[in-house]
Amino acid sequence: MDRAIVGFHQDAEQHWVAELVCGHFQHVRHTPPWINRPWVVTPEGRAGVLGQALACRKCDEGAPVDRR
Ligand SMILES: [Zn+2]
Repeated sequence: MDRAIVGFHQDAEQHWVAELVCGHFQHVRHTPPWINRPWVVTPEGRAGVLGQALACRKCDEGAPVDRR
């Protein structure tokens, strides 16, 4: 299910985590050369994807809302 990104935070290992409008969190890792999301490491890049949709597998599974 596609859900809009409403914010970001970093986990304990400094990986970026997107906060979705549904209340679920999803890692958006930038670990080149395997996963390339150079936008996630800059404030401008992250701001640029606010409101864009990510496919939320947790919604598809009916998972409970994530908490910080
Ligand atoms: Zn969700």
